[in-house]
Amino acid sequence: MRGCESTCVGLAPAHVRAIAPYLPGKPISELARELGLNEADIVKLASNENPLGPSPRALEAAQDALHDMALYPDGAGFALKAKLSAKLGVSADQIVLGNGSNDVLDMVARAFLMAGTSSVYSQHAFAVYPIATQTAGAQGIAVQAKHYGHDLAAMRMAIRDDTRVLWIANPNNPTGTFLPWHEIEAFLKEVPRRVLVVLDEAYGEYLPHAERCDTAAWLARFPNLLISRTFSKAYGLAGLRVGYGLGNSAVIDLLNRVRHPFNVNAPALAAAEAALDDDAFLARSYALNTSGMGQLLGGLARLGIETVPSKGNFLLARVGDATRINAELLKRGVIVRPVANYGLPEFLRVSVGLAGQNARFLDALKDCL
Ligand SMILES: *Cc1c(COP(=O)(O)O)cnc(C)c1O
Repeated sequence: MRGCESTCVGLAPAHVRAIAPYLPGKPISELARELGLNEADIVKLASNENPLGPSPRALEAAQDALHDMALYPDGAGFALKAKLSAKLGVSADQIVLGNGSNDVLDMVARAFLMAGTSSVYSQHAFAVYPIATQTAGAQGIAVQAKHYGHDLAAMRMAIRDDTRVLWIANPNNPTGTFLPWHEIEAFLKEVPRRVLVVLDEAYGEYLPHAERCDTAAWLARFPNLLISRTFSKAYGLAGLRVGYGLGNSAVIDLLNRVRHPFNVNAPALAAAEAALDDDAFLARSYALNTSGMGQLLGGLARLGIETVPSKGNFLLARVGDATRINAELLKRGVIVRPVANYGLPEFLRVSVGLAGQNARFLDALKDCL
């Protein structure tokens, strides 16, 4: 390793060596090893996963697909795209499939960014935007947040001649902040058409029905819009890695050029297709999140802990010394997410779990305050 550091590692581009790596939630198995605990005794509310697991229909479809694991998957994802196309009212050539929606975000960076260009995102926005930008050798422009969320007017002002991509997460992770869709629509009318606006809707399924919006219908009006969605959150398929992007067919064509062949595996394709048919599962996931969010908000308020209003399946709790509290929670077998790397050192991000998991977290927190 030493020798390599003075040669190949040192010669890797400076923009790659400067990347702050993505910090995932601590895996249950890792904490179990460290504490000598049973995995079953650990509660993980750290990665915004669906506490119900996957839809049973998705699970069955994935299991069936395993029989064909010797074969390459359909690299074009024909069947899943056909289903999405019918459901969303876009044509199949307006859809790109990703190995998780992170893959789609990375394709955007590879297709549109390079040294000498820039991308704009908000302070406290999803960590993948700066990482993808930096990987492509482009410059990231972080715009000061407003009430922890995106300040669209400031983001508009931050666009430079060399800006090629602008990222918006709505709702945003890790803050849970949400902008009314009419504000985003007005923003899209203002943004120069040479800038690709990525609208990341990873938590769209958790929005109350009155606050949802058929943003796919905007694609006809905004050729520089790229919407990303995922099966990782409400659909409960995070471990399989499948998401998608919707955009103008010419934009999608570019993304397909940089997409790795066979980027979505066969069980993931099959599970996603089946998941799209299971509306009842999605409704259960939504209802559980609504009640769990209420439980967490009530419990935190009783402990005198401030929260940031969230439209996702997680929330930010202002615990003060988050490093200490996080360490104490871990000792009690509770994994949540510290967000100091997002510029939020006083907060912990807590995913909404099952009622019993939420209660475990609240009890553990009370114990270590
Ligand atoms: C979780 C999340 C994603 C989804 O990532 P996948 O790669 O689809 O698992 C995308 N964007 C945001 C803001 C997220 O929080």
